[in-house]
This record gives sequence, C-alpha cells and structure tokens, in this order.
Amino acid sequence: MKRKSDALSALADRVRFFEEIGAGFLFRSEEPRPEAGAAGKTIVAGSPRPAARPAESGLDLPRVDRTLDDVSAEIRACRKCSLAAGRTKAVPGEGNPKSPLMFVGEGPGHDEDVQGRPFVGRAGQLLTKIIAAMGYERSEVFIANVVKCRPPENRVPHREEAEACAPFLIEQISILRPRVIVALGKTAVDFFVPNVKAMGAVRGVFQEWHGLPVMPTFHPSYLVRNEGNREIKRMVWNDMQKVMAFLGGK
Ligand code: SF4
Repeated sequence: MKRKSDALSALADRVRFFEEIGAGFLFRSEEPRPEAGAAGKTIVAGSPRPAARPAESGLDLPRVDRTLDDVSAEIRACRKCSLAAGRTKAVPGEGNPKSPLMFVGEGPGHDEDVQGRPFVGRAGQLLTKIIAAMGYERSEVFIANVVKCRPPENRVPHREEAEACAPFLIEQISILRPRVIVALGKTAVDFFVPNVKAMGAVRGVFQEWHGLPVMPTFHPSYLVRNEGNREIKRMVWNDMQKVMAFLGGK
C-alpha cells in the first residue's frame, strides 16, 4: 500500500514540476505545445518525439578509434590534476552511446563523487525531470561533466583543472558524435564558447562548437538554489524546447 502511495506522490511531484516549468501540456494532449524558439519548428502534442538516431552529427572533429569504456577506464586511473587527490570516485559520464543528445555540466558533487555517476544528487534529480519533460528517459541521453573529479567544497574548477581534463570530454564527444549538446552552467559554457562574460550573454541561443550546435542554459543546481523562481524554470524549459525542435526538425 505504501509503495502505491509513494508512486502516486512521485507522479504528483512530476506533474507539479511540469506545470511549474510551463510543460503541463504534456498531461493535456489536446493542447498544442508552445512555439519553439530560434531553431524553428513548432512541436505539437502527439507528434512523434525525435528518433533515437535521427541524422548524422555535424561534428567536424575526426573519428576516434577508441570506445567510451576505454576513455572511462583512463579517467578512473587519471592523476593529471590536483583534483585526483580529493576524489572518492572519478565520474566519467554515462548514458546511451548512440544518443543524439548530450548534456555537459561542471563537475561531480558529493553524491556523484561517492557513487561515481553524474548528476545523481538533487540537481541531478531535477535534470532527470527536465530530460523526462523533453520526452526522453535519462538512459537514452548521454550525461558528462567538464571535470571528472570533484572539486573540494564543490568550488568552481580552476582553469588548469578544466584544461587538464578537457581532452577526455573532447574524446567522449568525438566518439559519441551527438547532434546537439546542452551546456549546463557557466563552466560548461566556458568550455564550448570562449570569452563569455556572463550566462545572460549566450543563454538560450545556439552556439557552434566544431560544427555542433550547443545550447547554453542554467545549471540545474542554480534552479535548485532558486527553487521558488518559476521564471528561471521557464527560461530553461524554453531553451530545451529549442533543442527539441532542432532534434525533431530534421
Ligand atoms: S579532473 Fe580530470 S584531469 Fe583531473 S585527475 Fe580527474 S580525470 Fe584527471
């Protein structure tokens, strides 16, 4: 009986979240979805969601003759920067290696460091809800970070740490060859777009990185810190609609 009420409560939480971010239409299939943004097409409720592997990636980096498991193994053994000293587990990333959609965040926090998996704490649970609102299971997309080891006290990674770790993310992207990347927060934006002074300068506008569209949006931890702020949630949801339109529009 308890399990049933837990399940109902989880469903109610999810409906509430979708309503808050303006995605309540997902539960009201007769209503059209709102206009998509700069990427173009309007998606209407009931239209098929993007195919699992809809088209080739536009990535203009050479193919890599290694697997994601090879890269993960190297990350777990890596001691290239000072973050190795404080980690419990390195967090290479996880998900569907054939996904057209990749999310890149800043770095592991406490829960991620303990489990060795990305985005499993509170911010991660919120990201999972956002992914669900986009019509995907979490396991269908790929999730990684700029740095693979937890910075002390969850501070922002130093530039030399991000630079030391960058070859891993570049290699992961070269193997995955997604069609679009969502950059979560300023550290991820800094990786893809040089010399951005503030998130507001690029958020919600597709950027290009080696031929790939990159959508900068707020990090889920920023949403957690501003839990009652519906406007921020709506901004993120608008950004995700542009990503969905891009994926569904080809
Ligand atoms: S953060 Fe990256 S470069 Fe630094 S030790 Fe971890 S895996 Fe290696």
